Amino acid sequence: MLLQKLTLPILGTDDETNPPWDHLSVLFSITPHLIAAAAILSASVLPYLEGQTAKVGIICLILTLQVGLRGWGDYSYRRRPADASLKPWLDRFVLLSLVSGVAWGSALGILYTGGSPDTQVVVLAVGCGIVQSSAARAYLAPRSTLLVILIVTALVNAAAIREGNWIMVPICAAYVGFLASYMVRLIGLDEKRIEAERKTRVLVEALADSNEKLTRANEQLRRHARTDALTGLDNRRGFDEELSRRLNLMRSTGRPLALLLIDVDHFKRFNDTHGHQAGDRCLQVVAELLLDSIRQTDGVAARYGGEEFAVLLQGPDGLEPTAFAEKLRTLVAQLQLPTETGGTASLTISIGVAVAAQHEDEASLVATADRRLYRAKADGRNRVCDNDDTERLLGQA
Ligand code: GH3
Ligand code: MG
Ligand code: MG
Repeated sequence: MLLQKLTLPILGTDDETNPPWDHLSVLFSITPHLIAAAAILSASVLPYLEGQTAKVGIICLILTLQVGLRGWGDYSYRRRPADASLKPWLDRFVLLSLVSGVAWGSALGILYTGGSPDTQVVVLAVGCGIVQSSAARAYLAPRSTLLVILIVTALVNAAAIREGNWIMVPICAAYVGFLASYMVRLIGLDEKRIEAERKTRVLVEALADSNEKLTRANEQLRRHARTDALTGLDNRRGFDEELSRRLNLMRSTGRPLALLLIDVDHFKRFNDTHGHQAGDRCLQVVAELLLDSIRQTDGVAARYGGEEFAVLLQGPDGLEPTAFAEKLRTLVAQLQLPTETGGTASLTISIGVAVAAQHEDEASLVATADRRLYRAKADGRNRVCDNDDTERLLGQA
């Protein structure tokens, strides 16, 4: 368990989102290396004053190379391409960590070797500081941190043993053991944090998903509520909404609006003769014909109820509704509807046409079209009526 946690390459690498990159930006930072270099430099003051200038020169060289290398690492990490893949940067970080461990360990080892007792105490204190600060960041990258700690302690121990100081070995072993358990605790905490973030993300995604489904279901419900099941046209509710919307449009933009109320002639007789199923099919055919006819216009067709349909024509088309209605009447009259007995049947429609006046409301427009529809019926059916003057009826029975 302990070893398993300490050999994690870097926490969060199985996470496809940000944690590994966030972690790496901390790990590549030059700041802790500048602090470590400053600490080792301060530990070199005493040997320098004691005249060990060659030794201090070597230390300065090591520190310059190490800080330069980490500075380059920090700089190139910040300037990595936006689509950079993680693996090479992880490898680069592990390599830089190993070099750092060797640099800090050998600098401290060199300072310790042949140093005065005061210098050796300072070196051990600085070594402890460096190791401790690495351990504090171990939750980011346990494996390389452990390696760095082992390298630094091994190199300082080697120097101590060379000086005949064996007592350092068990002390260091206990110290590294203590740090390892500390690192395991840190890793555990960070794993919990990552897991909590993952769960939050999953919950948020699930919430967004069900919201989207709910929106789609609502939209579908709304469409169903305003669609006629038999013909697929808008039903009465859809027509009412559309009529209000288009009247508002007319008032605000001046685009003319016309209403055609269409009723199938003698449809009861058609049902009685050919059956209700044939009647249904007939209503579907008329609906398709209406849809085809308005396709090129800014119009909409609806099933007003029973065998009655409504067409709204807006824009330039709304200016010639009578011609449009005449075309519809002719097309329906030309239909040859197959019957169950293998023959064909035909039917006709009557149409009442009304053009909306600027301040006309819904009820008034429908009433006008309805009145004219009944006039077309009264005058023999298979007609278009666009006015209240019987002399001007169009079409013929
Ligand atoms: P008119 O020319 O005066 O309009 O005569 P009509 O027979 O068409 O009018 P009426 O109001 O007497 O009858 C309408 C018929 O339409 C009666 C009804 O059975 C039929 N109908 C209404 N809705 C449907 C439907 O969804 N399917 C079928 N097959 N018939 C329907
Ligand atoms: Mg009717
Ligand atoms: Mg009818």
